[in-house]
Amino acid sequence: MALTPADRGHLDRCVELAREALDDGDEPFGSLLVGPDGAVLFEDRNRVKDGDLTRHPEFEIARWAAAHVPPSERASCVVYTSGEHCAMCSAAHAWVGLGKIVYATSTTQLGSWLSEWGLPAGLVAALSINDVAPGVQVAGPCDELVPVVKSLHGRLHGLT
Ligand code: ZN
Repeated sequence: MALTPADRGHLDRCVELAREALDDGDEPFGSLLVGPDGAVLFEDRNRVKDGDLTRHPEFEIARWAAAHVPPSERASCVVYTSGEHCAMCSAAHAWVGLGKIVYATSTTQLGSWLSEWGLPAGLVAALSINDVAPGVQVAGPCDELVPVVKSLHGRLHGLT
């Protein structure tokens, strides 16, 4: 599925948030929740450095939406993210009933970078969003942003 200029603008913001997270000692992931009218409702970035490894922005978005977006509007909201949702966040997204997900880079890509760098895979199985939540519409990756996000992950591991 082709990304629109609006999609690209939102993904650029996600990557900016990912860079902000990395600069602050967290992992480079950033995400946005966009409402049915196209306005950004909420944004966050990874905040795991203090030891709570569930503090992923996509999980925060699902919980924020559960508290603030009426159930009837959730399926019309789109979540943008610098890196495809993990299994925890995919499940939270589906349970809350949010709509489409647009990601800059995929879980498969992240896994291939880790393996290229000789690093172990993550603690949680590297499932795609649709492995966990088959009904969620997904778009991505964004080819132009892949090298940018890859270099942020390289920096996380002290490689770039
Ligand atoms: Zn996650």
